[in-house]
Amino acid sequence: MHTHAYAATSHDTPLGPFEFERREPGPVDVVIDILFCGICHSDLHAAKSEWGGSTYPLVPGHEIVGRVTATGASVTKFRTGDLVGVGCMVDSCRHCTPCHEGLEQYCENGFTGTYNSPEQGTGANTHGGYSDKIVVREEFVLRVPEGMDPAAAAPLLCAGITTYSPLRHWKVGPGKKVGVVGLGGLGHMGVKLAHAMGAEVTLFTTSPGKEADARRLGADHVVLSTDAEAIKSVAGKFDVILNTVAATLDLGPYMNALALDGSMVLVGAPPGEHRGISVFNLLMGRRSLAGSLIGGIAETQEMLDFCAAHDVASDIEIIPINAVNAAYERMAKGDVKYRFVIDMQSLKDEVA
Ligand code: NAP
Ligand code: ZN
Ligand code: ZN
Repeated sequence: MHTHAYAATSHDTPLGPFEFERREPGPVDVVIDILFCGICHSDLHAAKSEWGGSTYPLVPGHEIVGRVTATGASVTKFRTGDLVGVGCMVDSCRHCTPCHEGLEQYCENGFTGTYNSPEQGTGANTHGGYSDKIVVREEFVLRVPEGMDPAAAAPLLCAGITTYSPLRHWKVGPGKKVGVVGLGGLGHMGVKLAHAMGAEVTLFTTSPGKEADARRLGADHVVLSTDAEAIKSVAGKFDVILNTVAATLDLGPYMNALALDGSMVLVGAPPGEHRGISVFNLLMGRRSLAGSLIGGIAETQEMLDFCAAHDVASDIEIIPINAVNAAYERMAKGDVKYRFVIDMQSLKDEVA
């Protein structure tokens, strides 16, 4: 299917218009007209090959919301006109133990990323949501509850599930003290979701100007992480700290902030290693240092339904697709409140 998109053609060139063919839909495929696509910091890491291994041309985008325009003959879950979402995965091996347990993100044979990943069967490089349409197997398509704002729902497909999954896994709820490090796309969803789950939420931020927003989003306390005394004042306090920062950090002060049996969960994925991991810091308080990757398909649906029930969505700034390079520059500087979302009508208008 002929598809219009924006792509990076090398690690140091801006994204620009690109056309390519998506596979013709097979019996289990859903064709989606893309309405909105969020901009995740992972898109920037991948477009610039900051993790290495990027294949060009690269069409980023894994926070996709759109409407179904066609379904294969065997598709049972979706119909033309349905409001749907696609996140970071479009396929996996579908037979290993994690896949059977709904943990496709930990597929033993490697899940198929929505972009920059070899497509099952053909090996063709997958292309993401900065495009006008996408073809996805129905098992990897999510139902977006009708009534949700489709633009504000888009970031839930990555930022939402990446924070929801560890909050659930580490049993966040009433009576738990949760720290969230960094108020960006992931961080602001972490604050909203932990608050909606009933926890007492503290935001750690490097940006003094974000304090009022943090409280509006659901934080009970705000700690300026550049203030060493302020971090020391919360030593031993947290059951869970969710670290969403896109840069390498000294983890020491945050590990000190964990309570007995507390866990620091890394979700931020900086290209490089954090500093300040101390054996004694871990064993003195039986503390854990962990990581978490997005979330499985069933849990992503659970998260969307939770967000609909609790009136949670992303705080967004909608941009036309030709502003994507400027948005990347602002995101790199931490200047985003709190997720850029591309209105895909702008791409359709550009190519009309
Ligand atoms: P983002 O919107 O750019 O937010 C990152 C936030 O981190 C910033 O707003 C800033 O918050 C803080 N920060 C940035 N640089 C910092 C520095 N040098 N020192 C301290 N704090 C800093 O990014 P995002 O889209 O939320 O993504 C965050 C990270 O998660 C990225 O590395 C991304 O690749 C990764 N990610 C991982 C997964 C997963 O499955 N684990 C999924 C999606 C994304 P303050 O201004 O409040 O300090
Ligand atoms: Zn993402
Ligand atoms: Zn698998």
